[in-house]
Amino acid sequence: RPVSVADIRKSFLDFFASKGHTVVASSPLVPGNDPTLMFTNSGMVQFKDVFLGTDKRPYVRAASVQACLRAGGKHNDLENVGYTARHHTFFEMLGNWSFGDYFKRESLKWGWELLTEVYGLPKERLLATVYIDDDEAYDIWTKEIGLPPERVIRIGDNKGGKYKSDNFWMMADTGPCGPCSEIFYDHGPHIPGGPPGSPEEDGDRFIEIWNHVFMQFDMKEDGSVVKLPAPCVDTGMGLERLAAILQHVHSNYEIDIFDALIKAAARETHTADLANPSLKVIADHIRATSFLVSDGVIPSNEGRGYVQRRIIRRAIRHGYKLGQKTPFFHKLVPVLVELMGAAYPNLAKQAQRITEVLKTEEERFYLTLANGMEILDGALAGDQKVLPGDVAFKLHDTYGFPLDLTNDVCRERGVTVDEAGFQAAMERQKAQARAAGKFKMDKALEYTGAGNRFVGYETLESPAQVV
Ligand code: ATP
Ligand code: MG
Ligand code: MG
Ligand code: MG
Repeated sequence: RPVSVADIRKSFLDFFASKGHTVVASSPLVPGNDPTLMFTNSGMVQFKDVFLGTDKRPYVRAASVQACLRAGGKHNDLENVGYTARHHTFFEMLGNWSFGDYFKRESLKWGWELLTEVYGLPKERLLATVYIDDDEAYDIWTKEIGLPPERVIRIGDNKGGKYKSDNFWMMADTGPCGPCSEIFYDHGPHIPGGPPGSPEEDGDRFIEIWNHVFMQFDMKEDGSVVKLPAPCVDTGMGLERLAAILQHVHSNYEIDIFDALIKAAARETHTADLANPSLKVIADHIRATSFLVSDGVIPSNEGRGYVQRRIIRRAIRHGYKLGQKTPFFHKLVPVLVELMGAAYPNLAKQAQRITEVLKTEEERFYLTLANGMEILDGALAGDQKVLPGDVAFKLHDTYGFPLDLTNDVCRERGVTVDEAGFQAAMERQKAQARAAGKFKMDKALEYTGAGNRFVGYETLESPAQVV
């Protein structure tokens, strides 16, 4: 049976190739030309236009192992890392697709066959959910596949927001979407958590492993839905979650790749306790940030580059928390390349550059990190439950602490951040900068003797730049 991550990838692709699927390579983490999406958050992203009918491929069935990132934008899991057994920012998604070809029956049956016969998962540990009124999927599970009805759970679109479960999947706020059927694995009663749709579902006992989306609609900006040219299938299974089951561990962070990364992080930060959650964060974040650099995203102060900066600085802060006072994070790159470079040659090819980018960012943040932490520790020294917004802003503005980093520290200490106060302080500073910029412009106009006359874009653009 496949056990290593490499074997799991291969048997997934082999299985779907044997069912007539074309194996497609993973696409970059930055989606090409799609302003609705910050990062590739699932395997279907590279096929978005095929679902919409504006792109055609020479195949109607495809399978892939896709590098995904869920940090920033819809499906953001940054805050879950270090807290759950099942969430990463960067992860690999195993997926198969039908573009107007097969539909629910084949998708669910093949899914079941792969899980129980190829991967050998015990049937009695598996549960399925279906969209609340999807009798067709319900009947396939109960009558054709033979799952006992008590282990097939109907779930709505959660518009009422009662629990987290939601069986209506959307790529982003707009775009392809549809009802779905998900497969869960029960890790056993010794782990806290309840089945999907129950109040305890957010625990890590019943872990969602595979989502089968029956893509049928295109969600428009105004919330209306338009039918896709043809019903499609889009599935996604978390490689690390499946690997955890096959390697007989509970948490994603205990699988082969993470075991090695965590040990390396412990070595570089001189940490004895391998169970320290900061090591998980560092292990997760070295993957995310290295893959981001390999796909061209370098730290900056806006957009994707700022997400990259936030993830790097978060990792460094966790190293600092472990007592590490000098750059260490970039030293994990060779370990990662060793583990994942064969599957992702671009990662291996860019190893040197990744190391340099991370090291530069690390050296830069270390200049202000200790002083910033001192200020934060000081502000949290009392027994208040809220960190004032202006402190969070000062940390952001002067010490390079992204808001989520400050949040992360505060959360560890049971304190929340006054985010409205933070935003207000940010606005005040922007207004001041605008005023200063305007002053500069007036001065510039004075010097040129132009008064209110238009003297060209160079002078007039300066206020916009400082904003
Ligand atoms: P969860 O409810 O556990 O947050 P999800 O419903 O958000 O997962 P989907 O959008 O349905 O996940 O993605 C398909 C599959 O990808 C999931 O069933 C899971 O196996 C995997 N997956 C999703 N998010 C993550 C993540 N942050 N880290 C690792 N694997 C993930
Ligand atoms: Mg999720
Ligand atoms: Mg889910
Ligand atoms: Mg899901």
